[in-house]
Amino acid sequence: MDFFKGVTGLYFALGVLASALVLEAIMPWRRGVKISLARWVRNASMSFYGFILLGLLPLLSSYGAAVIAEVRGIGLFNQISTPFWATALTAVIAFDLVAYGVHRALHKWYFLWRTHRTHHGDAHIDATTSLRFHPFEALLRSVIDLPVVFLLGLPEEAIVVNFVVLSVINTFTHTNIALAPSVERVASRILVTPHIPRLHHSAAPEYLDTNLGTIFSVRDQMFSTFTPSDRLRRDEIFGIEGPEAIMPDSFANLALDPFRKPGHAAIPKPAPRDAGP
Ligand SMILES: [Zn+2]
Repeated sequence: MDFFKGVTGLYFALGVLASALVLEAIMPWRRGVKISLARWVRNASMSFYGFILLGLLPLLSSYGAAVIAEVRGIGLFNQISTPFWATALTAVIAFDLVAYGVHRALHKWYFLWRTHRTHHGDAHIDATTSLRFHPFEALLRSVIDLPVVFLLGLPEEAIVVNFVVLSVINTFTHTNIALAPSVERVASRILVTPHIPRLHHSAAPEYLDTNLGTIFSVRDQMFSTFTPSDRLRRDEIFGIEGPEAIMPDSFANLALDPFRKPGHAAIPKPAPRDAGP
């Protein structure tokens, strides 16, 4: 399996991104949005920083952990024989559950929120929003996945399947693509559909801590953090109230931001308020 050796994984992710951008042009949910190349570059630069950081720390990747687990016979699936589809499905479900917990923590604790707000600072949602993550958040998510790999003894191939599923769903749910209302309504009861992150990215504080799932929306329904897709308004405002404090004009500026005092042009976490009409 050489998916992550060389640039196959990067080419795949770029292909998914390009497909999403084309579909947004063909079937947009919100029409008339002007394309801002500066915004695209800003969002992509954040992903680039995370890519470099994790590239410098290969042993912190779930793929590297899978290689070690396999060589040393660590974890459940290195002890028992199971069909590959069952192993891969278990990997996707387990990583998604951990991602839900991490996302909830990113919203709950202020220090983590100051890292995650980078993602929420986007005033528009399109495929490039899925690239907009603080490198520390990328690092945190990567480290927290490691025990999952070692406990389950996931093979490298299962890591690749999870990467492919996650890339496709995370990119396409952070797009300006319109699904048929009936498809959106029915599918969103089980899976994350584009309206689910749109509500999560709403400037309305009552939606901010809801719809935290990445692949399966059933997580939010199980843990009472679900906002149904029909609440989304056509004129929904996205982003965080207040000025965007983080301008990633340099890695140092971006990296230091979570450590700065709250008064330093920080975006305050909006206080919950009663749901409006
Ligand atoms: Zn969030």
